Amino acid sequence: MTYYCSECVMNWHPYQCAEGCCPECGRGTKRTPDEPSSDAALRHRAALAAAAKRERYERFEAFYAERELQRIAA
Ligand SMILES: [Zn+2]
Repeated sequence: MTYYCSECVMNWHPYQCAEGCCPECGRGTKRTPDEPSSDAALRHRAALAAAAKRERYERFEAFYAERELQRIAA
């Protein structure tokens, strides 16, 4: 059983889909009886790495936004 994303045309392992959402595009998936795509593990890792990078960048931005505010307030 896999979770299918019609947007990415990917069959993901269920554990790769947080709350049933495609790890790559974030859209909903459909349960299918098909085999997982051969590159599911690779693309899942890439999607996780991209998400981690995005999150780091957001924290970085938040850090500087806060510092700017403190500077203005001072
Ligand atoms: Zn997708």
